[in-house]
Formats: sequence, C-alpha cells, structure tokens
Amino acid sequence: MSIQTTNPATNKVLKSFDEMTDKQVDDAIAQSSNSFQDWKKTSYPERAAVLSKVASLMRENKAALSTLITLEMGKILSQAEGEVELSADILDYYAKNGEAFLADKKLEPEYGEAIIRSSPIGVLLGVQPWNFPFYQVARFVAPNIMVGNTILLKHASMVPQCAIAIEDLFKEAGAPIGLYTNLLISGKRASAIVSDKRIKGVSLTGSEAAGASLASEAGKNIKKSVLELGGNDALIVLADADIDKTVEWAVVGRMNNNGQSCIASKRIIAVEAIADEFIEKFTAKLAKLKVGDPMDPSTELGPLSSEEALLHLVDQVERSVAAGATVLLGGKRVDGPGAFMEPTILTDLNPEIPAYHEELFGPVSSFYRVKDEAAAIVLANDSDFGLGGSIFTKDIERGKQIADQIDSGMIFINHPTWTQADLPFGGTKGSGYGRELSEIGIHEFINKKLIRVS
Ligand code: NDP
Repeated sequence: MSIQTTNPATNKVLKSFDEMTDKQVDDAIAQSSNSFQDWKKTSYPERAAVLSKVASLMRENKAALSTLITLEMGKILSQAEGEVELSADILDYYAKNGEAFLADKKLEPEYGEAIIRSSPIGVLLGVQPWNFPFYQVARFVAPNIMVGNTILLKHASMVPQCAIAIEDLFKEAGAPIGLYTNLLISGKRASAIVSDKRIKGVSLTGSEAAGASLASEAGKNIKKSVLELGGNDALIVLADADIDKTVEWAVVGRMNNNGQSCIASKRIIAVEAIADEFIEKFTAKLAKLKVGDPMDPSTELGPLSSEEALLHLVDQVERSVAAGATVLLGGKRVDGPGAFMEPTILTDLNPEIPAYHEELFGPVSSFYRVKDEAAAIVLANDSDFGLGGSIFTKDIERGKQIADQIDSGMIFINHPTWTQADLPFGGTKGSGYGRELSEIGIHEFINKKLIRVS
C-alpha cells in the first residue's frame, strides 16, 4: 500500500512518500534503542518538560495542524481543531500527573520492607490509525514518554503528513534524537518487525485483522501488547429519557468524525414506549445535516476517509438491504466528487443481516425497537465487540444497574461514549484489551519491579 495524502473531499492525490527501506528501519530501531539508554536515566521533570513543550507547540500551530488533519482524512475543520487541543491536553495531563502516578508504592509484607518501583521497559512500537491522527498518537506517546520508554511510531499510510508534523513537533521541542521516531512503512512490515529483540512492547488502534496480526507476533515473541480495536456500541433509550436531549446526543454520538469513530453510537436501541417519537425526531435531524466540504465552517458532515472506505460502507448497506434491512434515510453515496455518504438509518435488522454484526464505519445508524429494558440489554450484549455504550434515562441509579449488565469497557449515562485525558479508555471482547489514558493507561508498559529490603 502506498504512503500518500489523498484529499477525500476531492479524491485527488496531493503528495506521495517513499516507504523506508529495511536499512532505514533498522537504523531507526537502533537509534530508539540507544536513546532509551539515556532517556531512562532522565528525571520526571525533564520528561515532563518535553511533553509540555510539544503541547504548547501544538496549540501555537493549531490552525496549520488541523488543516492538515482535514486535508488528509476529511474531518470537519472545527473537529480537527478540537482534536489538536485535546491532544495537547493529554500531553499536559501526563506532564503534570505522571510523576505522582509512577511514584514508588510501599508494600506492607509480613517480613521485611518492600516497595514496587515503576521502571521503563524500552522501545515501544505504536501502530496508529487515521481516524484521530493526533489524539491516538498523544494518548499512546505521552504516558510512555513519562515512564521513560522510547517510541517508534508507525502511523496509518493515509496520514503521512500528520505523522511527519508530530515528529517535527518533538524535534522542535528539543526531544533527544531517537525519543520519538516515525516509521514510514506498511502495516504488514510493522507486524514483521515485532520480533526484533530491541522492541519490548506494542500497541495498536485499528481493525481486528491488524490487531490480531500484530498481537500474534507479540505473543510469539513474548512481548506485552495493548489493542484498541473496533466497536459496535449501543445507545439505549429508556422510556423516561428526555427525548429531545437524547436525540441531540445521538446525532453527535453517531456523526462525530463523519461517523468514523470506534466509540460511535452505532446501534440505537429504543424501548417501544418512546421508539416512534425518538426515530421521528432523530430522522428529521439527520436529514437536515449539511454534507459537504470539511473546510467550510458551515459543514456538519464531511467525507469518509477514502474512496475505498466509502465503497466498503456502501457495500455493507447494500448487502444488508438485500438481506431484508429497511432504509429509513439515505443509503447511498452522494453524487459528485469525493468520498461522501448520505446520512443513513437502517432498521428491521436481525442476526441474519450483515449490519447487525458488522462495524459500520461511517454515518450509518442502526435503529432497533425493543419491548423493554431487559430486551435492550440482551440486544446490546449480542455483539462480538465490547468497547463503549450509553444509556439515556432520568433514573441515574437504574442507569447504573443497567451499566452493570452491559459487557463493555465503558458506559456513559446521558452522554455518548466519549474521551478525556483523565478517564480510562478501552474495551473488552473483540474490542481488544488494555487501557489508555488516566492513571491506568500509564501502567501498561512498565516493569513493576519489587525491591525488598531485609
Ligand atoms: P487498519 O487496522 O488496517 O489500520 C490501522 C493501522 O494498522 C494502520 O496504521 C495500518 O497501517 C496498520 N496495519 C494494517 N495492517 C496491519 C498489520 N497486518 N500489522 C500491523 N499493522 C497493520 O484499519 P483501516 O484503515 O483499514 O480501516 C478498516 C476498519 O478498521 C475500519 O473500517 C474500522 O472498522 C476499523 N478501524 C478502527 C479504528 C478504531 O479507532 N478502533 C481506527 C481505524 C480503523 P496502513 O495504514 O499502512 O495499512
């Protein structure tokens, strides 16, 4: 697969890059490994200073960086700006809190004295996707740089300029050579280098196929891995929900990032009592979304990330309709240039229909009407994924009881599943394992070393 910028709003190729040769990759690993020998000896304030500097450079360059995001993967510009700010916040969060999170933990054993010390493990390989090209990198890199690990970053082939911009920010911030290094290589080559003895751990956000490939290499080579894969999150609407507010949030939850988010509210499950009112209002809102140029401030829904992604989504919708699904809204690509999809709602779904099980990565909602809460829980759990989910109800205690019964890594009450620096992020079942962000996220790639004194 070639490494290039293709503007999905026009499908024009703007810039192409040569993949790194095997020799260049080997040199990069060597440099990262050498850098680790020094970086592991730095103090927490020294590490925090690099992260804070990168964060302030991100904010200073927000306009240029967000334009790059929009150009390469089609996110609407205001959301790209929000992503750059969130990424800077994540870097600052770990700069500020990392030392406390990593402080020695005193144990109280039956004999002697003991502590657990958080030691870095070495070079980490991060494989990141195109859908949040800055945020996904920030949440992997910031905690691990604070820990004292060094980073090899293999970004998605469709966002090479974002990848280069992030590496440049580290250089400009005065990071030592080898602390943060891009690998401009294909996904397959990323899996192939996991066996290199100098790489000590791997983390991937992306599809199940890519995750399985990278993690099986890590397993074979006895290395720790963290996987954040897809999702098919349920948004459950109970009879007592505030329907107008729920509709507003359901639109945001499904359409944020042009529908291409692992935590999008992909399956809307409404109980019978309010299902008609909900779907009528939800359909009306989606029908009014302004689809178009993601650089235009009035646009509400931009293109998918690529023509290939659009063709895949259209195929999923067509196969679902052929198997009996009903299209309530949209269902087709938008005529004209660019990878645009109509806001779409599918209903009359059952386990024989592809849309019931498959992740729909784009502006396509699946709508389900169920008898009651119990049926909503059964349906929400009938998925191979287990990333996030949300419940809308005025009865918060009832919401928490239902949250206990949903098999997922995150549940939000009266809000779509979301992310911020101080909340852990990650899933269960086919959505992967491990956590990013918050205090939990910093403890993934650490040697928790026992030091015992007699
Ligand atoms: P991929 O999983 O292919 O891409 C994500 C990252 O993994 C990219 O850096 C990619 O590199 C890399 N990769 C691909 N194959 C391998 C491999 N065998 N070993 C190691 N790394 C690999 O996602 P796609 O972009 O193809 O999107 C396909 C689907 O994946 C989406 O429709 C969506 O369902 C899911 N997805 C989920 C995301 C999430 O946030 N959880 C993010 C992106 C996708 P390269 O770009 O060079 O192929």
